[in-house]
Amino acid sequence: MPDTEPDAEPLTFAIPCAVCEQTGEPSDDHGVAHAWATGHLKANPEHFIYREIITRPCRFKPGAWK
Ligand SMILES: [Zn+2]
Repeated sequence: MPDTEPDAEPLTFAIPCAVCEQTGEPSDDHGVAHAWATGHLKANPEHFIYREIITRPCRFKPGAWK
């Protein structure tokens, strides 16, 4: 149940390196996550494997859970 309410936490992206496990700060801008990974690759030309992590806020609605 994706949270689409106005006060929902942001959807965030991070693309950590799967070789050395370093990562940038999660950002609600995918471009920021992509830029981190690109910069990391340039600094570490042998780190080719990344793992995109998308954090999607979810919310239950009170009511009938039975
Ligand atoms: Zn790395």
